[in-house]
Amino acid sequence: LEIYTGLKQRVLAAKLAVAVEPVLKSTGCNGFCEKGPIVKILPDDVSYYKVQPADVEEIFTASILNNEVIDRLLYLNITTGKRVKSQKDNEFYKQQMKLALRNIGEIDPANIDDYIARDGYQGLKKALLEMTPLAVIAEVKASGLRGRGGAGFPTGQKWQQCASYDSFPKYAVCNGDEGDPGAFMDRSIMEGDPHTVIEGMLIGGYAIKAETGYIYIRDEYSLAIRNMALAIEKAKGRGFLGRNILGSGFNFDLHIVRGGGAFVCGESTALMASIEGNVGEPRAKYVRSVEKGLWGQPTVLNNVETWANIPLILSNGSQAFQSIGTENSTGTKVFSLVGKVKNTGLVEVPMGVTLRHLIFDIGGGVIGNKKFKAVQSGGPSGGCIPESLLDLRVDFDTLTAAGSMMGSGGMIVMDERTCMVDVARYYVNFLAEESCGKCVPCREGLTRMREILNDICRGEGRPGDIELLEEICAMTGEAALCGLGKSAPNPVVSTIEHFKDEYLAHIVDKR
Ligand code: SF4
Repeated sequence: LEIYTGLKQRVLAAKLAVAVEPVLKSTGCNGFCEKGPIVKILPDDVSYYKVQPADVEEIFTASILNNEVIDRLLYLNITTGKRVKSQKDNEFYKQQMKLALRNIGEIDPANIDDYIARDGYQGLKKALLEMTPLAVIAEVKASGLRGRGGAGFPTGQKWQQCASYDSFPKYAVCNGDEGDPGAFMDRSIMEGDPHTVIEGMLIGGYAIKAETGYIYIRDEYSLAIRNMALAIEKAKGRGFLGRNILGSGFNFDLHIVRGGGAFVCGESTALMASIEGNVGEPRAKYVRSVEKGLWGQPTVLNNVETWANIPLILSNGSQAFQSIGTENSTGTKVFSLVGKVKNTGLVEVPMGVTLRHLIFDIGGGVIGNKKFKAVQSGGPSGGCIPESLLDLRVDFDTLTAAGSMMGSGGMIVMDERTCMVDVARYYVNFLAEESCGKCVPCREGLTRMREILNDICRGEGRPGDIELLEEICAMTGEAALCGLGKSAPNPVVSTIEHFKDEYLAHIVDKR
């Protein structure tokens, strides 16, 4: 804010023959979070990184008034050792393909005209004015889009199931709870491009014949809540929300619900219970929420990134989307690449690229040129993938087959100094704290796993602990009620599978 205000004052003081607002834009994070704050000068296409308020005067005088480039603020390419001006030449950006993140860093999220200028609300117009709800569903089905929240269920199929029930009202819900440590994909979309979520939900609402939508956002995401609320107001003001939208006869309204920060509220049934004002606990899914969801009515729940892809599928057509990625995992996926990696930030790539490409080509490799040890994908319920599997393709099915999961897109890189038993203990501890405690397998299973892992890490492990852990993991995964408990063993199972020697090294046989 200091940098933006400083530049604004400088533009005003210089009395340039232009209005300040179109000249100066405050955007959301463009993905290279670790190098922020970033100032991008257009049309010269010069980007400055790690800008400080003290740099404002120099940027204004050199770059804006005199068309000069300030070398020390440019990105230093890790591979070539050369400084680069344009993001097009920056290894972090140039190997990405931005669909869900297409507008972030380019538009002012508070300005609906910015969004409209980049084809915003075109997908909605096409859906409402040229297509039937069934045709919209067919288009989303044809795109092959699968839910980006973790489970990877085909989105069009989910919509079709919901549309098939003749019970009204129906609801469209957005999961913006994002509780995985190290994950911030959804937060960035809501902060930097809120209208794309609104447009996606409008299209989904039209397809399933819902007139009300809810966006569930964790309370810690104050900027996301503020920007989403502002965008809803602006969309209402332009006739994109409310009654008889674009003269089509379709009515739709959107509400924000603030979550209290419980990790389990990212689970679909717990999230809906929380929206209803009840305790955010999961329920058995013997009836699916597409039939009986929010307040017992047919409901479609998708996460932020899934909704953000919908406008593109409608405006560009399913074929364009379907041609990206792999046969069973189409489109792109956004990852938050964090941990011991040189280029930290949000990365969007076509499905099917390898982990090696993500971590080494885009991420620049491991900090301090240490040896890579593992990457943890899929949040606390995901697994740890070792170096031998770095050439795995990143898509829903390949990662699951490797004992991990795509999850919502968290990707934490670990180097040779990381103790993998400690990593398992960290995640089990997190999940034990966040378990709602409703069912015995998860509540007691995680408690026992935590006790054993604590003992092992303290050097008090016993022979047979690994086998006992495996037994508890199998029971918990099999018998737990919801996805949190079912996938909770993943960090333990995957570290035992790939790093058993570290467990053995901790366990001292005292007999
Ligand atoms: Fe709660 Fe865990 Fe059971 Fe899910 S599996 S309902 S989080 S106790």
